[in-house]
Amino acid sequence: MSDKPCIICVAITGSVPKKENNPAVPITVTEQVESTQAAFEAGAAIAHCHVRNDDGSTTSSPERFGLLLEGLRKHCPGMIVQFSTGGRSGAGAERGGMLPLKPDMASLAVGSVNFPTRVYDNAPDLVDWLAGEMLSRHIKPEIEAFDLSHVFQAVAMQKAGRLTGPLYVQFVMGIKNAMPVDREVFDFYVRTLNRIAPDANWCAAGIGRNQLTVVEWCVANGGHTRTGLEDNVRLDKDNLAPSNAALVELAVQICGKYERPVATPAQARQIIGLGDAA
Ligand SMILES: [Zn+2]
Repeated sequence: MSDKPCIICVAITGSVPKKENNPAVPITVTEQVESTQAAFEAGAAIAHCHVRNDDGSTTSSPERFGLLLEGLRKHCPGMIVQFSTGGRSGAGAERGGMLPLKPDMASLAVGSVNFPTRVYDNAPDLVDWLAGEMLSRHIKPEIEAFDLSHVFQAVAMQKAGRLTGPLYVQFVMGIKNAMPVDREVFDFYVRTLNRIAPDANWCAAGIGRNQLTVVEWCVANGGHTRTGLEDNVRLDKDNLAPSNAALVELAVQICGKYERPVATPAQARQIIGLGDAA
């Protein structure tokens, strides 16, 4: 049990789910801003963002990211905006083309892994370049750990001054061909991170039907957590989630069950080591 505030991140869109999977997946910037605002009001402190073209196809257009950032700053005051530099929406340097917009945070994968149908390719030179772009602009990375080696790599990069501490590390579990949703593995990750980077903060994301299970593990073990339609489009086995906010509400309920206060954006900024809201 912990009375430490729990930061809830909402991953609103991603690059995979489509309207056909769930009509509540926000695609246009207007939809994204509306969906995030409701999730923000439900308790989310971080918005993890990808952008799409209006037809739903993936893009990493800095223009779109700029419009989204503007909308979120206006409608979700203080919320932490995190841009994805993930590889499903672009390749190479395209993946960091929006960083000059200076979001509060950006996701950073520090190594490669297999995804369901391809290699998620994060070559060392690209990782170094993305990390450097974030470092020079004071953008806090969220380290996406798809594998144990990624945890060690992030700590090594911090020690070398290529990432600023304290680290914010997310364990990503449940992607086919990558790390499974496994309780003992989860415990081992938390223990290992605490051992090699005692000042690091951590959260975890459960992809697909195990989303809520992973949320509960995070909350019960003093971590932070992530939910949202990017990772899972269902409320439960039989029903689609009506919104991102509905998924955030489930996470808030779990915080209540474990007597964890839900972190306000200001508390989340302090925990993660960000400056005040822009
Ligand atoms: Zn993402």
